[in-house]
Amino acid sequence: FNVPEAKNEPILSYKPGSPEKKAVKEMLAKLRATEIDAPMYIGGEEVRTGNKKPMTPPYDHQHVLGYYHEGDASHVEQAINAALGAKAAWNDLSWEHRASIFLKAADLIAGPYRAKMNAATMLGQAKTIFQAEIDSACEIVDFLRFNVQYMTEIYQQQPNSSDQVWNRVEHRPLEGFIFALTPFNFTAIAGNLPTAPALMGNTVVWKPAETQIYSAQVLMEVFREAGVPDGVINLVYVDGPAAGEVIFNHPEFAGLHFTGSTATFQTLWKTIGENITKYKSYPRIVGETGGKDFIIAHKSADAKALATAIIRGAFEFQGQKCSAASRVYIPSNLWEEVEGYLKEDVANIKMGSPEDFRNFMSAVIDEKAFNKITKYIDDAKESPLVEVIAGGNHDKSKGYFVEPTILKVEDNQYTTMCEEIFGPVVSIFVYNEDLFEEALYLVDSTSPYALTGAIFSQDRYAIELASQKLQQSAGNFYINDKPTGAVVGQQPFGGARGSGTNDKAGSQLNLLRWVSQRTIKETF
Ligand code: GLU
Repeated sequence: FNVPEAKNEPILSYKPGSPEKKAVKEMLAKLRATEIDAPMYIGGEEVRTGNKKPMTPPYDHQHVLGYYHEGDASHVEQAINAALGAKAAWNDLSWEHRASIFLKAADLIAGPYRAKMNAATMLGQAKTIFQAEIDSACEIVDFLRFNVQYMTEIYQQQPNSSDQVWNRVEHRPLEGFIFALTPFNFTAIAGNLPTAPALMGNTVVWKPAETQIYSAQVLMEVFREAGVPDGVINLVYVDGPAAGEVIFNHPEFAGLHFTGSTATFQTLWKTIGENITKYKSYPRIVGETGGKDFIIAHKSADAKALATAIIRGAFEFQGQKCSAASRVYIPSNLWEEVEGYLKEDVANIKMGSPEDFRNFMSAVIDEKAFNKITKYIDDAKESPLVEVIAGGNHDKSKGYFVEPTILKVEDNQYTTMCEEIFGPVVSIFVYNEDLFEEALYLVDSTSPYALTGAIFSQDRYAIELASQKLQQSAGNFYINDKPTGAVVGQQPFGGARGSGTNDKAGSQLNLLRWVSQRTIKETF
């Protein structure tokens, strides 16, 4: 079980004059100048249906980057057949070969494909270079490398034996195919959801969000160049309900690897439940869903560090992270100072095209997201219970731009304190500094989610109290840090309650969901 030791891929600086900046700038220009014609990949074939849908940058929606070929139910059927057909040969490969393929994919992304991965993520998903780099360069590489290490650790865990008896456990892939349904907001997650089950010997049908197709194409190019055999990962662009109809009625459906909204996940779970008698095995259901992630400050907190965490936690990538800080509880003694820092910081935020590296924010993903986010903002502006501390404006004429918006709410149950907005909006409730424990109760009881959260305090007793009272309120809990930016191999990521099944992304636990053990007892 000798595999290269997994280490986190270093984040490059992209400072002026750096070779990485030059490479990504050139790649952006090249991709802008070439029209992409994105096929589906089924059983190793590039499938072009002729039903072409435009791909546009969210910050410049009149510019057509190219087209993807949309498929229908028949293509999902073909993808399932390709996955099932590829299974026997893939299972016959020893684990070293599966590991090699994905380690090579990691090296390709860290090296020759880095600029293309980042440029595609910037153009297609409106990520700044820093947000792209930590996602479509570093995090996907980390997933691929660490998963190989976790896989070998899993294979090594064996039961006790004795003189006459040899006990062992085999980790079989699941019987059937896996469905990976992936989100727009992290290219790394889109890459991890099909590759984690594939590494464990499964074959996969992968349906990305239609707003992430550019970087999905580049990922697929990498997987193919790395040697993922035909049919092991099949990429389809099909409308969700049409795909679901075929997938969830299939007797060989063996598992769902999902990241997306809570409502969608619950609908899929119900559908799977309704069809349960049709399946050969009980399908594995693994999902990371919504969040309403908190920051609570104690009266001893450092006001400047707190303000920075709010700005970065709420506004990086336009707040479109399941982990984004979106409700904040600030003690009255700190409010004035924190308010000053927040106003100053928001005034300094530059927003625009990510192709200009000075911008800290860009557009939200599409018109539907824009409309949803701005409805919350416009309603808040009308409410006597809300004061707009910063931002509040929006404009979709060129791109889907929403200003970073800070709301101070009088009612701690106001909608923006409870519901997931998935945009650059953060709500603040100022509590009486002597009522810390009551504020902790609000944190725990206000939303149905439990993904991430942070406590800011310089008082160890307050940190201890928060960590006890909020034990179930977050799957990732941060002490004196923003609640975003979990790193593979360092902070296994996932939440419980309405936030998911908490099968931590980038962990042994996650990989264990994609195998089914066979225990063997042999007597001599
Ligand atoms: N892993 C990401 C983070 O820690 C969030 C993932 C998500 O938004 O789904 O910020």
